[in-house]
Amino acid sequence: MRPSILYPLFAPIDTLTGVGLRYGKLLANLCGNRIVDLLFHLPSGFIDRRCNVPLSQAENGRLWTGKVRVVEHGVPKTRKQPYRIVVEDASDQLTLIFFKTFGDNLSKTFPVGAEKIISGRIEIFNGALQMAHPEYVVDAAHPELMPQIETVYPLTAGVTNKMLNKIMLQAFRNLPDLPEWLDEKYMQKEGFTSFKQSLWLAHHPQNFDDLSPNSPLRRRLAYDELLANQISLAVVRQRLKKQKGRELQGNGNLRNKLRQILPFELTKAQQRVIAEIEADMAAPYKMSRLLQGDVGSGKTIVALLTMLNAIECGTQAAIMAPTEILAQQHYETIAELCEKIGVKAALLTGNIKGKARKQILERLATGEINILIGTHALFTEDVTFKDLAYAIIDEQHRFGVRQRLSLSQKGNLCDVLVMTATPIPRTLVLTMYGDMEYSQIDELPAGRKPVTTTVMPLSKIHDVVAALERKLKTGTQAYWVCPLVEESEKIDLSAATERFESLQKIFGNLVGLVHGKMKESEKNAVMEDFKNGKIKLLVSTTVIEVGVNVPAATIMIIEHAERFGLAQLHQLRGRIKRGQEASNCILMFGYPLSEVARTRLNTMKQTENGFIIAEEDLKLRGGGEVLGTRQSGFGTFKLADLSINGDLLLTAAKDAALILQKDPNLQNERGQALRTLLYLFERDEAIKTYNAG
Ligand code: ADP
Ligand code: MG
Repeated sequence: MRPSILYPLFAPIDTLTGVGLRYGKLLANLCGNRIVDLLFHLPSGFIDRRCNVPLSQAENGRLWTGKVRVVEHGVPKTRKQPYRIVVEDASDQLTLIFFKTFGDNLSKTFPVGAEKIISGRIEIFNGALQMAHPEYVVDAAHPELMPQIETVYPLTAGVTNKMLNKIMLQAFRNLPDLPEWLDEKYMQKEGFTSFKQSLWLAHHPQNFDDLSPNSPLRRRLAYDELLANQISLAVVRQRLKKQKGRELQGNGNLRNKLRQILPFELTKAQQRVIAEIEADMAAPYKMSRLLQGDVGSGKTIVALLTMLNAIECGTQAAIMAPTEILAQQHYETIAELCEKIGVKAALLTGNIKGKARKQILERLATGEINILIGTHALFTEDVTFKDLAYAIIDEQHRFGVRQRLSLSQKGNLCDVLVMTATPIPRTLVLTMYGDMEYSQIDELPAGRKPVTTTVMPLSKIHDVVAALERKLKTGTQAYWVCPLVEESEKIDLSAATERFESLQKIFGNLVGLVHGKMKESEKNAVMEDFKNGKIKLLVSTTVIEVGVNVPAATIMIIEHAERFGLAQLHQLRGRIKRGQEASNCILMFGYPLSEVARTRLNTMKQTENGFIIAEEDLKLRGGGEVLGTRQSGFGTFKLADLSINGDLLLTAAKDAALILQKDPNLQNERGQALRTLLYLFERDEAIKTYNAG
């Protein structure tokens, strides 16, 4: 339950006077529909309306504020001409210009000889100073009526800055004094003031420093949000750790057999993560671990070896892939090895129906099948194992904390390993996967040839096609990925179809097409033809993004690469790093090419290191945008910016661990205050979900 002290903050914004239905909707779209959302909508700038220089020094195009005396009125003869008022200070004269008026009110506002303080934008016209429609005019006797510094907010159509400033003032009346949840010494060290004071200052910047994400007041707000995030994740992790699990520690027979038939040595990194996973499996609590390894780092073999540990203990293991193509591919790799060591693996996909499906389910229930491979969807249905002790989720960076929790609760006492090929910066690992333990394969198997990446304009497409023609003749295979058009699968599709048709004219039936709108079975058929080499050139939309393994395919052509994100480009390029052959990636771009897009393409050209690419992606896009983390809800922040506040996150992670160590149930005085913090940032979800499940 939300503490009552926070009720006023979570009241709907239309409880404020002057916020009606229409305006409420506009504000809701801009920042959210509760007062707290409004207060977390931080300004982007300010307008300084303090009197500055004399008129003679006023600059063209700049805001000018100062005291003037009214000299004379120039009344227009027709409504088409502007109304002019000449004013002056000790240094120069200025003409105020008003359109579409006969000046009835103006003669009252600006009586000749009166002194006024005005504020507005200066234009210099033929050497003379002009100001069209001053934004503020106040009597010189009442300078306090001029807002000295006006906060500027990010706006939306229909919401003016003046209105928003007024509403913010009201919103602040709903902000109570909150108990301090931060450590006093830490606050002193950082120069933090209270939450309320910091939020007030954030909304009333006095200078540019106050707007900087590195100012103490903005850092305080960012820290609060990050701390709430880290505590909530740490609470979940702590609870999971306490959950009883199986002690899975096999005799090593199957694993030894497998190692003997592997055509390669495991890399040091593979050995290390296997040891980490095995230690977790052997411990008497549930495992919940993230395994991160770049494309081609060899996660499949890690998955298989650790599954064999579970099987040596007489239990079953399962591996879930995000698509049928990938499930199929895992099955092929795993089944071949399993057969040689007498382990039974089975594939269960949507295509396997009727009698065959029934048989698999039966053999699964009797325990005859040791390893089941399928898509995520299958595991939400009624698949009954004899004794599932270990579940692996592959390539699942789009999974949220809540979904992971529900999964680990499903298989009773089941150990869970999540594998992802997407390199994630350390800060995002903490915010998205802070509820899990973490292993990383930070080394590729030896002997991998680098990919040569070329960036070129689309106008050179004919050269690319000619080169491709030569290459395909020698037996090389290639991918051709078509442009991503914003949010419209239809247009994606027509672009891909068009390209397919034009390439077909050159390459005939050596070209195949796959896209997201095809039936799973059609897609699989095309992929099968590509794998066995019947198709040499595979044209696609981004459906091939994740995990497809065709070693003979060593060329990747990406059309309109400037429209793709870095993480996506990296994933796509990873497709051609499978074999021992040198490979080529060609990034073709069209104009206009934005600065960010140019940086992305250069990054791709300069490095293949997924972690460097991920860090760059974070810098270019900010935390919420990276890797589709938005859906997970845990990677997004309102007040913190991970590309800037990364240091605070690391501190928050340590702080959270320490807090829970001392006060696991958040019960002492600071603990109570921290509970308020969790509710303030709505990070109580994870705890609630845990309690409910
Ligand atoms: P990913 O991490 O992308 O899932 P895979 O597990 O598919 O990578 O491995 C990519 C390729 O590298 C496979 O063909 C696999 O057999 C091979 N491989 C895995 N580990 C090693 C190793 N230690 N030495 C050499 N090749 C390896
Ligand atoms: Mg893989």
